[in-house]
Amino acid sequence: MNQHFSGSLFMVAAPSGAGKSTLVNALLAQEPAIRLSISTTTRPPRPGEEHGREYFFTTAEDFQARVATGEFLEWAEVHGNYYGTSRLFVAEQMRAGTDILLEIDWQGARQVKKQFPQAAGIFILPPSIAALEERLHKRGQDEPHVITRRLLAAGGEIAHAPEFEYVIINEEFPVALQELSAIVRSARCRFSQQAARNASLFAQLGIHAEHAD
Ligand code: GDP
Ligand code: ADP
Ligand code: 5GP
Repeated sequence: MNQHFSGSLFMVAAPSGAGKSTLVNALLAQEPAIRLSISTTTRPPRPGEEHGREYFFTTAEDFQARVATGEFLEWAEVHGNYYGTSRLFVAEQMRAGTDILLEIDWQGARQVKKQFPQAAGIFILPPSIAALEERLHKRGQDEPHVITRRLLAAGGEIAHAPEFEYVIINEEFPVALQELSAIVRSARCRFSQQAARNASLFAQLGIHAEHAD
């Protein structure tokens, strides 16, 4: 992350059904200043999903064409579909100093971390595999074969949890939400973020930020 970026970049990952989107949406309701990056995907929309709200839905051909033009900051194949994050969106929000949240898988998080080492990785774990299965069924938005595929992939996703700085166990939803909120708030107090946001105060107080991370 460059020195002048006064916002934070958060990456939230989880096995499907852990509660990632529910937690992120609740966080955004409390913290409207955080901008959620809307990914482009080749997955078909679920009932109730809207183009431009949950995702930008597109075809595999269009997706590959955009990969070729370098439109994505990161992209990955997850559960048989392509997902990618807009490079332009992230660059614009960074320039504006806005906090950005990416809901991406571990492959994407790795790519982002290479480009922005200060990005904060947050991994959401379910309290058990049985709970994960129950939540996927209860959500009731995926075909049975899609649920099976996602459950089979859960172990593979969870195996990458050690690559993330923060872990939240989503057992009691309000507790998990408080933890997510605490991570966001603590990131805003990082020296580099405070120095970027309060440049004139830091100058008045004679604090030199050159050595900040
Ligand atoms: P979910 O499991 O209910 O969140 O199902 P989704 O279909 O919304 O997401 C499927 C997977 O794709 C998840 O692991 C997401 O984190 C991942 N994903 C979503 N958007 C992106 C993206 O822009 N880039 C990458 N790399 N992964 C994404
Ligand atoms: P993800 O985005 O990780 O795939 P969702 O946010 O769609 O997961 O959550 C999956 C399902 O689990 C949803 O029906 C959601 O309401 C439910 N859920 C989320 N968190 C909890 C929790 N702490 N306890 C019980 N159910 C939960
Ligand atoms: P779903 O299809 O259930 O919405 O998402 C499945 C998985 O794809 C989730 O784990 C989600 O985080 C991941 N995903 C969604 N968007 C992106 C993205 O833009 N990039 C990457 N790498 N993964 C994504």
